[in-house]
Amino acid sequence: MSEALRQKVVMVYREIGRRGLIAGSSGNVSHRVAEGMIITPSGCSAETLQPDSLVPMTLQGDVQGRIVPSSEWAMHAAIYLAYPAAQCIVHSHADASTALACLKEALPPFHYMIANFGGDDVRCAPYATFGTPELAKCAVEALQGRTACLLANHGMIVHAATADQALTNAIVLETLCRQYLLARSAGTVRLLTAEEMRAAHQRYRTYGQADAGVFKTPRS
Ligand code: 13P
Ligand code: ZN
Repeated sequence: MSEALRQKVVMVYREIGRRGLIAGSSGNVSHRVAEGMIITPSGCSAETLQPDSLVPMTLQGDVQGRIVPSSEWAMHAAIYLAYPAAQCIVHSHADASTALACLKEALPPFHYMIANFGGDDVRCAPYATFGTPELAKCAVEALQGRTACLLANHGMIVHAATADQALTNAIVLETLCRQYLLARSAGTVRLLTAEEMRAAHQRYRTYGQADAGVFKTPRS
C-alpha cells in the first residue's frame, strides 16, 4: 500500500485532532485500498498515531499484522461495501454533532449547505453499542443517499471520494451542527422549504472550481 496514502490518513486524523473534533481516541479514519482498507489503530490519539501503526485489513475483518484495528472497523467496512463511491471515512465524537445526536434528532434543512451531504437533512441513526455489527447496519441505513449521518448518543460519520473531501465533510458537518444548535438556543429556527433546498442542490452543481483539486485541502 502506498506510503502517500498512509500519510494522507495520518494527516486527516491529526487534523481532526488539531481542530478539536476528537478528544483522546474518540474517532477513527480509514481509506479504501485494493485489498480492503487501512484504518487507524484502536485507542490511539492524534498525538500518538504514526503512519506505520495504521492497520491494513480486508472488509471481512482479516487483519494483517499484530496491531488491533479501530473497534469501529465493521462500520467502516460496511460503508465501503454498501457505497462504492466511498474512498475515505471519518468518524468522530465532535462536540456539536454529538450533542445533536444525543437528542436523537436529524440535522434539518436549516441552512442550504445541508445539500453538501446529498439530501435535505443529515439523518440520525438509532443507538447501538459501539463497535458492533448492529451499529454498522444502522449507519449504512442512515447514509442512504447521503455522505454523512449522526449516530445517536455517540457521534457522527462521513465518507467521501477523497481523503481531503472526507476531512472537509467532517469539519463542515460539525460547523453546521454547531450553527444549528446556536440558532435553536436563540429562538425558533426557520427551516428551508423543499423548493428552496431543490434550488440549493441545483446551484451546487456548478459551484466551485472546475479543477476539483483546487482549494480542497482545508489545512491552515
Ligand atoms: P477506536 O479507538 O477503537 O477507534 O474507537 C473509538 C471510537 O470512536 C469508538 O466508537
Ligand atoms: Zn465512536
